[in-house]
Amino acid sequence: MIQFFNTLSGQKEPFTPIEPGKVKLYTCGPTVYDHAHIGNFRAYVFEDVLKRFLRFQDFQVTHVMNITDVDDKTIRGAKTKGVPLADYTAEYIGAFFDDLKVLRIEPADHYPRATEHIPDMVRIIQGLLDKGFAYRKDGAVYFSIARSPGYGKLSKIDLAELRTTERVESDEYEKESARDFALWKAPKEGEPFWDSEIGPGRPGWHIECSAMSAKYLGPTFDIHCGGVDNIFPHHENEIAQSEAYWGRPFVNTWLHCHHLIVDGEKMAKSKGNFFTLRDLVKNRQVDPMALRYLLLSTHYRKVLNFTFEALEQAQAALRRIRDFLYELDSRPFQAGEVPEVRNILTEARTKFVEGMGDDLNISLALTALFEMIKRVNVLIREEKLRADDARETAAFVHSLDLVLAVLLPQRETTIPDELMRKIQARELARKDRNFKLADQLRRELDDAGLVLEDTKDGVRWKVLR
Ligand code: AMP
Ligand code: ZN
Repeated sequence: MIQFFNTLSGQKEPFTPIEPGKVKLYTCGPTVYDHAHIGNFRAYVFEDVLKRFLRFQDFQVTHVMNITDVDDKTIRGAKTKGVPLADYTAEYIGAFFDDLKVLRIEPADHYPRATEHIPDMVRIIQGLLDKGFAYRKDGAVYFSIARSPGYGKLSKIDLAELRTTERVESDEYEKESARDFALWKAPKEGEPFWDSEIGPGRPGWHIECSAMSAKYLGPTFDIHCGGVDNIFPHHENEIAQSEAYWGRPFVNTWLHCHHLIVDGEKMAKSKGNFFTLRDLVKNRQVDPMALRYLLLSTHYRKVLNFTFEALEQAQAALRRIRDFLYELDSRPFQAGEVPEVRNILTEARTKFVEGMGDDLNISLALTALFEMIKRVNVLIREEKLRADDARETAAFVHSLDLVLAVLLPQRETTIPDELMRKIQARELARKDRNFKLADQLRRELDDAGLVLEDTKDGVRWKVLR
């Protein structure tokens, strides 16, 4: 059984998709005005592990992630740079896809862009006007929260309290109520806008997700994810619009990951603790897999405190797993098998699946993996492990990596020519008994992240980085 903590009900619930065996998943994507930061990637890695686990449990998942390529920030960025909006966002969309690959995040099935779905949004806004859930004011269209009886059910927000605080902050006095939100914004001087049946303008942010999720997944679907900052007002507003327009429940299960913070503080550009993936990989030589491990190894509903020390611990955990795989792969084991190994693997698999199935309890799942490694290592040390056991154990780790996508080293079947030549040069130096040169070449290879081992069958190497 799989159960998830549903933000909507405020409790763990057994998960049953609408259509047996199939899961429709929508996750809020990036606003492409800058590079995504590692906090964003916490959300995307959590969603990736969720999706991979559902697949591991034989669900067929259809995943949609929107790209917000028009909003105040993208418009401001394009203006400052003096380029058309589409040119400005293209750079960050490209960078986002590159980053996903670096972190081994599987691509979604659809990445709808807001600017390519304006007519879908206009249709819903028109419908909301027709049904009386929305009203026009000075060229804009607003959603009326007073006409949405269920408003607040996701965030459990106290509307009375909201009214008093929001009014002070809000300078949009043209609205009927300060709580109402814009579905359609009137054009502003020098800003991009679209002509449409509801007048010229551009869409608000929330309507984008309602329109694009329905287009690709239907008006009611299984799972919607995002970070906790999305709960209010974004997801609350999505529910209000979608349920008002279609007259049926919008999403069955809402999953929200908690924030990533840095050294105990909110990540902010002004504090100098703001990191993009690129900063870490290029300027601080961080292994992207250590970052992925760090991001996924804290339960998604807990705050994750990013520190460089924690990153080192993540790297060390990965090294333990990879060293184990290397042992399995390279030791000369005797032929055959021992029944004990099969039991160890079955137990580990059961615990892993039970852990992940319990609201993605990653701590239990990783404990299952490390306990298995410990037990098999004892058998290796006692020279009890056989060749078939080693193969099966390695295959088991590979199978868990279908969910975690972090355990195996980058799939490099070849190493760069330059390093290959160094390995050969070192072999020759050893044959010539020039040990000084051989040692120096070994050190150079070591610095490049390649560890050599001399065996009776010749030299073997493993890539550590
Ligand atoms: P944005 O581009 O700001 O709309 O954010 C994209 C996704 O990243 C959303 O799902 C946010 O909830 C999530 N997110 C933003 N900041 C953080 C953070 N510090 N930790 C975790 N998730 C975040
Ligand atoms: Zn959204």
